[in-house]
Amino acid sequence: MTFGSGAPPFLNLGGGWCPTVDPTEPKMQRPAVPEADRAIGVPRPVLAHGSVVLVDYMGNDAAIVQAARVSYGAGTKSVRDDRGLIRYLLRHHHTTPFEMVELKFLLRLPIYVARQMVRHRTASINESSLRYSIAPDEFDLPGPEAVRQQSKVNRQGRGEPLPAEVVEAFRSDLDRVSKDAYGAYVRALEAGVARETARTILPVAYYTQWYWKIDLWNLFHFLELRLDPHAQEEIRKYAAEMAHLTRLVAPIAYEAFEEFTLDRVVLGRREQRAVRALLEGATPEAACAAADLPLTKADGAPLRSGEGIEFLAKLDRIRHAGSAGTTV
Ligand SMILES: Cc1cc2nc3c(=O)[nH]c(=O)nc-3n(C[C@H](O)[C@H](O)[C@H](O)COP(=O)(O)OP(=O)(O)OC[C@H]3O[C@@H](n4cnc5c(N)ncnc54)[C@H](O)[C@@H]3O)c2cc1C
Repeated sequence: MTFGSGAPPFLNLGGGWCPTVDPTEPKMQRPAVPEADRAIGVPRPVLAHGSVVLVDYMGNDAAIVQAARVSYGAGTKSVRDDRGLIRYLLRHHHTTPFEMVELKFLLRLPIYVARQMVRHRTASINESSLRYSIAPDEFDLPGPEAVRQQSKVNRQGRGEPLPAEVVEAFRSDLDRVSKDAYGAYVRALEAGVARETARTILPVAYYTQWYWKIDLWNLFHFLELRLDPHAQEEIRKYAAEMAHLTRLVAPIAYEAFEEFTLDRVVLGRREQRAVRALLEGATPEAACAAADLPLTKADGAPLRSGEGIEFLAKLDRIRHAGSAGTTV
């Protein structure tokens, strides 16, 4: 695939480093992707009251190629095609061409998810302020399937199901406490308490909304962290919707991101030693032992986590790469 007709005319560099506009070329066009244009302004629901909206985007796959060709000039002639160039740039962490693409979202999200998103410092955020406006009476009440036991293997996650009565007791407490808090909020406002003070009574299950704008490289970084199974389920749902929209804007870059970032398996030095042992015919357990990747405690009891367990999980990923559910 090439971008010959869609790419803006100042790509016509003639091998030099300084872009000059050729007056015989058609007028420079804003890069547009019809699939992404159709998605603009259409809310994609997330959780009970949340949503992700693509507000606007700047650039597309062609903008990445355009930036790279300014940087490399005639050097890119050795690259087979634009798809190959994008995949090369991503594999080799040539990041700035990806920064030429930007996406702006409008997110409606519970405050506890917003607290996780705000950690991604490379996004520009403008949040609606409860100093000026009144909070809507909307809080996140997780479905019964989302209320589960504390995970035994992942200290920050959830695991096995809980008895139905425990789930319902929690959901009913959350419902009652949230409604009580909102009632107190409204009473405070009616009694003349300043909005900026009254809002402090609202729990983190209440919703906020903001514009969230970020360039494609940093969006990929955000998606890598927040699509990961270690991220909290709720932020993963937002990340999944944002990933869908990102794929519309820059499908070739997104495909490369899936292959070289989401689906990559990184092996440390000892893990490489274990792979060498595997290639020489060792069992996974023997390979772990040879590479000092522990699978058991000192007393022989099996470990549930740690470098050895993570290595076996990586082997499992490799074994299943390309089967249903993976993107290879
Ligand atoms: C599963 C998971 C669990 C987490 N648990 C916790 C937790 O328990 N407690 C907690 O506080 N946070 C937690 N976080 C948040 C995490 O520590 C990061 O703050 C968050 O993921 C943002 O990552 P980032 O800094 O790479 O991204 P960004 O802020 O978007 O930054 C992108 C990149 O820019 C560079 N950069 C940006 N700002 C700076 C800077 N000031 N100095 C140097 N380099 C910079 C870095 O290379 C960085 O990777 C968790 C995140 C995840 C995904």
